[in-house]
Amino acid sequence: MIENQHAYCPECDTRIRFYKRPKLGAIVTCPECDEILEVVSLRPIELEWSTEEYYDDDTSSTDESDWDYSYRD
Ligand SMILES: [Zn+2]
Repeated sequence: MIENQHAYCPECDTRIRFYKRPKLGAIVTCPECDEILEVVSLRPIELEWSTEEYYDDDTSSTDESDWDYSYRD
């Protein structure tokens, strides 16, 4: 069974698709507004602003996820 998993950014309403099931508490960055979001629910997937202080410096966010917002021809 293939589930089309997606969630909406609470900031800008961009639809963020997940090709891999996210984990509860996973941190994602919105591709549109760069908000740091946390997965707070899995069924359905819901995102909220992360309250964690994940950015200690201005280091580029490590992207360990498989979000697919970079379609290329
Ligand atoms: Zn956004």
